[in-house]
This record gives sequence, structure tokens and C-alpha cells, in this order.
Amino acid sequence: MPLTGDGAAAGAPAAQDPAGRGGPAAGDGVRRWHADLAWLPVGGVRPGVLIEAAGERFVSVRADVRRGDVPPGTVRLPGLTLPGLANSHSHAFHRALRGSTQAGQGTFWTWRERMYQVASRLEPDSYLTLARAVYAEMAMAGITCVGEFHYLHHGAGGVRYADQNQMGRALIEAAAQAGVRITLIDTCYLSGGLGNDGSHEPLAGPQLRFGDGDSGRWAQRVHALGADHHGMLAAHARLGVAIHSVRAVPPGQMHPIIACSHAYGAPLHAHLSEQIAENQACLAAYGVTPTRLLDRVGALGPRTTVVHATHVNGGDIDVLGGSRTVLCMCPTTEADLADGVGPARAVTSAGSPLTLGSDSHAVIDLLEEARRVELGERLITGQRGSFGATALARAASVAGHACLGWPEAGEIAPGALADLVTVALDTPRLAGASAATALESVIFAGTAADVRGVVVGGRDVVRDGRHLLMDVPGALATAIGPLLAS
Ligand SMILES: [Zn+2]
Repeated sequence: MPLTGDGAAAGAPAAQDPAGRGGPAAGDGVRRWHADLAWLPVGGVRPGVLIEAAGERFVSVRADVRRGDVPPGTVRLPGLTLPGLANSHSHAFHRALRGSTQAGQGTFWTWRERMYQVASRLEPDSYLTLARAVYAEMAMAGITCVGEFHYLHHGAGGVRYADQNQMGRALIEAAAQAGVRITLIDTCYLSGGLGNDGSHEPLAGPQLRFGDGDSGRWAQRVHALGADHHGMLAAHARLGVAIHSVRAVPPGQMHPIIACSHAYGAPLHAHLSEQIAENQACLAAYGVTPTRLLDRVGALGPRTTVVHATHVNGGDIDVLGGSRTVLCMCPTTEADLADGVGPARAVTSAGSPLTLGSDSHAVIDLLEEARRVELGERLITGQRGSFGATALARAASVAGHACLGWPEAGEIAPGALADLVTVALDTPRLAGASAATALESVIFAGTAADVRGVVVGGRDVVRDGRHLLMDVPGALATAIGPLLAS
């Protein structure tokens, strides 16, 4: 089975099919679905799409097949079926802050203090409980792969767990139990901030849990995760690495992180220019922007994803696009934290692929993230149409998977991983959608609540709007309550 890793993950009931529906068709071991409408990489939205999978991969995709012509046992998918969506930037534990940080005022920096409070309360068991509920919420929103930008490595005060990767392993297991894939983006976080003189502040308080001391020791811990030469940690999990930001990692410490990315063929991610203060400190300390600093150390390129890039200048945009570095926008978080609206059109026009993340999980809804990229452009430029529905859907699916190291996912095509997301078109938000513009309707008016079915690796995870492995609202409430209790 595709989503059974090691340990408890293998015991997750994901392989069961409680209703006995949608299992392998008799005899041949092939699962079949017939989508009323499906968005395909060639031809766009097509009617009557017969999709076949053997094991975790699609083996056949044919459009214009009439309902009466499908083989027995084929599962009908009403609505619009998309490939699995990829959430390219997540901090699972931030989900606990949702709503509570909306009271009163404040800034990114005051929000960060609240985030540290939650971080200080998490241990491997409670993190597993929280993360699997958060990833299950993602699955219900059509997310079949999450890029977890993970920096909560150690115990209180920075004390190491017996297994220094216990927190990371909890996240890998959480994804398996929620029925989704994960790229564990193990993040190097060494400093609490950057002074104008180039000095890096030491980690303090809750931040002590993030640090490995130096990037050499960070790399030792990452190697101990036990990824194979292709960066695989389990059947459902692969390794990524990250430079948290130029605030948190001095340039002299970046090389081991880049080397680790090369050694495993692992994606390299970094927060970039989310705040003007970061740019100012970087310029004062090094005389260059954060983008230029990452370029100088060799951190940019097609395997690298920069997250936010809200405050980049024209020269930065040329560097990012010219190096084909991937851009990950997180518009709901960027709005929530009053970061600003990043130049998505300019960066992508320069050559960078676009991807999307729900980051702090102010909401978990990739359809909203997608349309906000275009709507933000409209508000800034006074023009419509920078990003059409197809470009945004690609950002949420195939491009997102690629930046997380899963280029074989995110398209409904033979050979690809058999991940499907079916969005109902008979909900109050989408009723009346026409076949010709169904993708536009879903991207610009659909929400996570319209997702009715999710298949990951050929197996049902969400059916009829219900997660098959857990009571997601109950699991979230149980996990979050103790973290916020005073
Ligand atoms: Zn982030």
C-alpha cells in the first residue's frame, strides 16, 4: 500500500474500505472511476473521463466515455475531478493559533510571540496528535501532499530527545495516519535574529527548541533520519531541507544545508523577504538583499523554493526567475500577518514556477490561496487576468508536487500517482457552474468545503465529504484545547 510507512503508520486503517465501495474491480486489481468532468493536463476540462489505476499509479485515462460504457464496479465521480493538491508550505502547529490571534491588534512580531507559546507546549506525542488532525483537515480540503517546514526539533530548553528526530518522525507518522504524503522539510534554524552589524542573536527561550548549534550538527541529525539515496523516508514520505531564513542562518552556515540537498536530491526551501525588516537588516549586515545573499552562496536554482518573496526588488526578481527558483506564495497568511502582496506576476514572468502554501493555517483552503494570488494582482495593478484558472490549478497541483520532490504526482495522466480530488458542483457556491468554465468556477468560487472525495495512491481517504480515518473536527478540538489552556 502506498501510504504505509514504518512504525504505527503501517497500522493505520487507511487500507480499509469500510463501505466496501470503490475497491478494486473484480479480478483484475484495477480501480476505475468515471468522472463527470475531469481536468486533464492535455485538453483541460473534459467530460466522461474513465480513469484507471493499478496499485498507486494511474494506468489509463480516457475522456468522452459514456456512462453506459464503463466497466462494472466503476465508481462515478460527480462534479469536477482534479489531481491531488499540494500544500507546499506548512507549519502544522500554527493551526492551534487559528482565530485566537485575531483578537486585538499587533504585528507579525507579536503574532510570533504567540506562536512561540504554542511551540513551547508541544512534545512528540501531542505533536503527533495535533499534526495528524491538521493533515486530515488538509486531506478534506483536497490536499494529498504536504510540505512541512519543520523546525520544532528539540525538547524544552533545547534538550535533545533520545532520538533527536523524534519530532520529525511524529510528523511523518501523522501524515500516514491522516492518509496524505509528506515532504519533511527539515529546517536549519540557528539564530534568533539578525542585527544591523551582521551579528546573529543567539536563540533564546522557546527558540532553543529549534536549534542544532550549527549546520554541521543539523546535517548529522538529518542524515540520522535515514533517507535513502533518493531522499525517501518511507513510501509516503520524502526528505526536504530548508534554510529557515537569512535571519536565522548566517551565510557561513548555509553550505552544509545546500550540500545535503544535493546529496539526497532533496528540495531546498527558504523563507525569503517576508518582512521589510529582514531586508533592512540583511542590507545593513551584508550589503545585499536576502535574495542576493542566497544567490551568492549557491542556494538558488530549480530545486529551490523561496517562500513569500513579498518584498523583493527588480534585481531580486531577475535573479529568482533567471535561476528558475520556485516561488511559493501563501496569500492567506501573508494577508493575515499584514506582510503585503508579493509580485507574483513579475516573478513568474521572469521564469519562476508558482506554487502555493497555507503556511500558518489561518485557513486551510488551497482554492482560496490560488484565487488570492490573482485577486491580489488585480488590487495592486488595476488589471484582471494575470493568472487564469489553469495557471492557478497548476500551481496548486503539479507545480506544488514538483517543488516538494514528487514530480510524478499532480496530474491525471497514465504513470502518475493516482491522486484525485473531486469538487462537488451542486453546492450553494458552485451550483449553476457550466462544464465549459467549471475550472474557473472551482478556482474562483469553490472552497475546501466543496471537496467531496479524495483518493491518494489509488485509495479513498475522503468520501462524501467525510474523512474515512478519523473525526477531523473532534481530533482538532482534542489536540488544540490543551495547547491554548491557560
Ligand atoms: Zn513559513
